[in-house]
Amino acid sequence: MKVAFLGLGAIGRPMAHRIARAGHQLTVWNRTGSRAADFARGSEIDVAPTAPEAVADADVVVTCLSTSADVEEVLNDGAFEALRQGSTLIDCTSGDPATSKRIAARLAAWNVAFIDAPVSGGVKGAEEGTLTVMCGGDADAIARVKPVIEAFGKKIVHCGPVGAGDAVKAMNQALLAITILGTSEALVALAKSGVSPQVALEVINASSGRSNASMNLFPERVLTRAFPRTFRLALLDKDARIAAQIARDEKVPAPLTQLAADLCSVAHMELGEEADHVEVVKMVERWGQAEVQ
Ligand code: NDP
Repeated sequence: MKVAFLGLGAIGRPMAHRIARAGHQLTVWNRTGSRAADFARGSEIDVAPTAPEAVADADVVVTCLSTSADVEEVLNDGAFEALRQGSTLIDCTSGDPATSKRIAARLAAWNVAFIDAPVSGGVKGAEEGTLTVMCGGDADAIARVKPVIEAFGKKIVHCGPVGAGDAVKAMNQALLAITILGTSEALVALAKSGVSPQVALEVINASSGRSNASMNLFPERVLTRAFPRTFRLALLDKDARIAAQIARDEKVPAPLTQLAADLCSVAHMELGEEADHVEVVKMVERWGQAEVQ
């Protein structure tokens, strides 16, 4: 298929690579053009100077931008009119359901199908093609573009109508934030009381308090103090706020989700735009005046 990929950020790059490696004819566009040029150098991948030029000829357009508002902005900036009738837009942004529904309605009138398809599994999962992809939209549209999604996704789940993929992703992210924050508090308190974090994690990871945070993120990124920058805290902040908004819209009391969103926002302000999500532990370490290492 002819595929256009818009948004060559931390996770977009390896996803786009996998689409090209799967044999699709790929054109890429990135707002900062030098990143697209670096990405395509020495390959058969085409670089389009503008988003409308990237999408004009594509059967499938994949977007992977920071927020749904960014996707809407790019569409409003000429890409909307340039989309080929009968094509499909797969939005892999971790987006918000309300904006996705608005975009889908506009595209439907133009005979372009929209699928919200946020992903989970991190940069490593994207490189290995093992991402979980949560899709919202029409089942037939999803089936038609599955060969593209399968290039980067292993577990592909149809969650419901447009917006359902975004909603599941946001709640997953709220759980991620809650477990990182909770594990931070536990390990800082234990470190201060004299228990080594290595010993604490050995026990927790063989017990009922374990999570992806305790099993993978803390051993690999916190204990080593490596803190690789793979997923920005700013984006987790955005995700947790989407989750809290969904709960509010549905009138479901969700104090833990709201608190996690607020704490992510505070950490985001303290640690800055480029901090990784796992660096949120540094805020808890400062409060507790003890380090997890
Ligand atoms: P990055 O911050 O690394 O990259 C963001 C990308 O979006 C860049 O290509 C950036 O362009 C582009 N962009 C942002 N705003 C605009 C705009 N207004 N117009 C055009 N382009 C824009 O983010 P990631 O790649 O990490 O994340 C992308 C999406 O995937 C997010 O929704 C994130 O939540 C989600 N995600 C990320 C994961 C990860 O591990 N990193 C895991 C799972 C989901 P430019 O280069 O010009 O800044």
